[in-house]
Amino acid sequence: MAQFDPNARLIFVDNEYRTASSELSHVIINPASLEREGEIAQCDRAEVEAVIACARASQVEWAKCDEKSRAAMLHALADSIEKTDFEEVARLMVSEMGKPYPEATGEIANCASIFRYYAEMARDQGGIMPGTTQAGSFQFARYFPYGVSAHIMPFNFPILILCWTVAASLAAGNACVAKPAEATSLSTLKFMEHFKVLPPGLVNCVTGGGATGQALTQSPNIHVVAFTGGVETGKRVAVACAERMKPCVIEAGGSDAMIISEHAPLDVAVPGAVTAAFHLSGQICTSSERVFVHEAVHDVFVERFAAQAQRLRIGPGLERSEIGPLVSEAARDKVMRLVAQALEAGATLVCGGRVPPAFDTGWFYEPTILTDVTAAMDIMREETFGPVAAVCKVASFEEALALANGSEFGLGACVFTTRMDEAMRAYDALQAGMVWINNPLIDNEAVPFGGWKMSGFGRELGRLGLDAFRQSKMGVVDADPTVQEWWYPYPDDWFYSGSGRDF
Ligand code: NDP
Repeated sequence: MAQFDPNARLIFVDNEYRTASSELSHVIINPASLEREGEIAQCDRAEVEAVIACARASQVEWAKCDEKSRAAMLHALADSIEKTDFEEVARLMVSEMGKPYPEATGEIANCASIFRYYAEMARDQGGIMPGTTQAGSFQFARYFPYGVSAHIMPFNFPILILCWTVAASLAAGNACVAKPAEATSLSTLKFMEHFKVLPPGLVNCVTGGGATGQALTQSPNIHVVAFTGGVETGKRVAVACAERMKPCVIEAGGSDAMIISEHAPLDVAVPGAVTAAFHLSGQICTSSERVFVHEAVHDVFVERFAAQAQRLRIGPGLERSEIGPLVSEAARDKVMRLVAQALEAGATLVCGGRVPPAFDTGWFYEPTILTDVTAAMDIMREETFGPVAAVCKVASFEEALALANGSEFGLGACVFTTRMDEAMRAYDALQAGMVWINNPLIDNEAVPFGGWKMSGFGRELGRLGLDAFRQSKMGVVDADPTVQEWWYPYPDDWFYSGSGRDF
């Protein structure tokens, strides 16, 4: 049995690491130093199918297990995560995708509780027991697993988002095959060790890029798909699933709006905006990318926003830095293109807008603030996914709401205000799956998370997040067999009497 080794082209199947049989591989590069960190396999269709077959064999037994026993095993899994030192997984995550170390450990520290939450929810809410429509008839529904779920993950929160959907899927009685983003395959593979507390084959991991993801979504032996990633990939996954009538949850990209009202508590709004725009170098799906600021506070807000943004420390994730590198050269190129196009179209550069001179190796980019941004600029229409805040001055709260909604995305939105009427108006009016008033980026395991419009469909977390991985079966059981009055043949006086025909 192989040990974890970042260079061994591993997969995780049947509770053990195995060297992948697929021939193609991908080298993992540290985005801060551009040094080699390891190598992963590009799992081909045959290998993916073999892993799915292991998962299916395990799932057949897991589905027979009672909910209380399943819950006990999910609690044991949570214990394993809680008891383990996060350092090795966190260091791998830092080195392969650039996340600052405190954020990597924070991400892993948040993973155990979702297994406990869904373990108990599945025990408590195993079906629907309504009032009956006929006395003596027992009418109900129970939930059943789909079979094997695929979990196609993004690079930015590789472990947390995996746990959100794997926990729900396991609690519902499925087995899982995970496919991390190439950029975060090493930390995901290392994290897989926790799943050894479960029966073999229940949670597995294959590696590779889009072709491996397609092998999963197109497989007839994958029955439900959890996808998190960009809109274009999300569309491809949704189409693959639609062609096979396969349910899927699509958590896609966003370009979240932040509104700074003339009544905003600026002492809170400024650090809140700095965090919401630049956390993880702006590579959070709910990063605030478009900032609409009331003209009464625009200048003072921008001045303080820029002052705090410029104090953020840039550097590799194992050093004392808030701003790590972007995940790849392509990601930074996109940010640079959008900033350049905005400046050409008349935006003003307040700070940043360049590769930091002290960090010209790796894919670093300075926290950047643009003002005089208009709706016509590409940066207001595309997801930037980098450390850039595009600020637009507005004359009223209503204008801010209208501009915030003028996007094809609808993931999250954030508002800073001290006025209750503005807070409630914004919650009602904003076209987004999450609206934060004075407290951006927070999630809650008990509350559904997901986007409106092009940002996706289906929900993770909360009861809806569990329902995504189970199907209902209506049951009608009449213990005392009775001939029902509406059954054939109908009595003569039920027929239409106005036909004019004499029967
Ligand atoms: P991508 O869309 O590039 O990739 C997501 C996953 O899909 C990766 O594992 C990728 O593999 C895989 N993939 C690529 N092509 C296919 C295909 N044809 N079929 C199946 N799978 C495929 O997203 P990123 O990893 O770059 O993540 C960033 C994006 O995720 C942003 O847009 C962000 O907003 C979004 N996101 C959304 C969240 C939400 O809750 N709505 C939360 C977090 C992120 P590989 O990487 O190896 O190419």
